[in-house]
Amino acid sequence: MRLNESSPPYDAIIIGGGPAGLTCAIFLGRYRRRVLVVDDARPRNHASRGIHGFLGYHSIQPAELIARGRAEAEACGVEFLRGRATKIERVADVFDVTTSDGVLRARRVVLAYGVRDTLPDIPEIESYYGISVHHCPDCDGYESRDRRIGVIGWGAKAAAMALKLLQWSDDVVVFAHGHAREWDEETNSKLLAEQIDIKDERIVALEGRDGIVAAAVLATGERVAAGALFFNIKVERACDLAESLGCRCDDPHPDIVVDAHRQTSVEGVYAIGDLVPGSQLVITSAADGAIAAIAINESLLPPSRVIG
Ligand SMILES: Cc1cc2nc3c(=O)[nH]c(=O)nc-3n(C[C@H](O)[C@H](O)[C@H](O)COP(=O)(O)OP(=O)(O)OC[C@H]3O[C@@H](n4cnc5c(N)ncnc54)[C@H](O)[C@@H]3O)c2cc1C
Repeated sequence: MRLNESSPPYDAIIIGGGPAGLTCAIFLGRYRRRVLVVDDARPRNHASRGIHGFLGYHSIQPAELIARGRAEAEACGVEFLRGRATKIERVADVFDVTTSDGVLRARRVVLAYGVRDTLPDIPEIESYYGISVHHCPDCDGYESRDRRIGVIGWGAKAAAMALKLLQWSDDVVVFAHGHAREWDEETNSKLLAEQIDIKDERIVALEGRDGIVAAAVLATGERVAAGALFFNIKVERACDLAESLGCRCDDPHPDIVVDAHRQTSVEGVYAIGDLVPGSQLVITSAADGAIAAIAINESLLPPSRVIG
């Protein structure tokens, strides 16, 4: 499908229909802006059994929250395109967004496409992921309380995660999973002072039932009991639209650099949710969406309606 030059551009095209993109869409729809959400429906938290810590909706299923958000957005006129955005180009003062359905034009673009987690390379770990294997202590630490908790990772962030998990368990073990430890001596001393055991050998299997892990089996044959596992391996942006647009990114982190209104270093392009610095939570992603929407709406007002 080719761009129809005669049809007016959208006020905003939002790439990603997760908590961040949907909240932004709802606010912009309520400002009576013409908005399109392009989403290929592969949310980061697909494995989660319930969202924790979202005010008023504690433990809601991710798909249920997205369905409610989408219905709220559609009720205020937001349009949806199920598909993938593959390219964004600035053309004078608008943006051409190439999608699986053709090229669409917008005055503002919102990057809300989230990040992807790398799971540890352990056979069948997917069947435990989201139930007793997690990546975020803020989200699932409380649900793992008073169990023996294992942390899989070899970087300083994995060591910090192990120390943080002492909030919920006084029995924490770190699995470097066959990698050299990348933290310094001081960090090592902190782990040892808290009696956190460190296992350097590779994990070759997990034991457990119905998604509830019971033990990690090491390459040596040792069986290490653990009732919950957290991991810290790698997080990356879900696609490279920000880079191709020239937005400043804070590599190697998945963060796109934004100002207080969530505008990127490219004027007219905003980034929200897990893509920007700060906590990676549903509630903060939703808040980002609202902050960006307010700023986008103001940026679209004619000068005759702005004071100061
Ligand atoms: C297992 C798990 C459990 C979690 N548990 C919790 C919890 O209990 N509490 C909590 O607050 N947070 C939790 N989180 C974190 C939370 O899920 C994220 O912070 C939140 O989903 C981020 O929202 P988002 O809108 O930025 O991105 P996402 O929810 O990831 O949505 C991004 C959307 O963009 C789409 N997309 C990507 N690229 C493109 C493209 N090129 N074109 C079109 N669409 C695209 C994706 O398909 C997806 O639908 C959890 C995360 C995981 C992985």
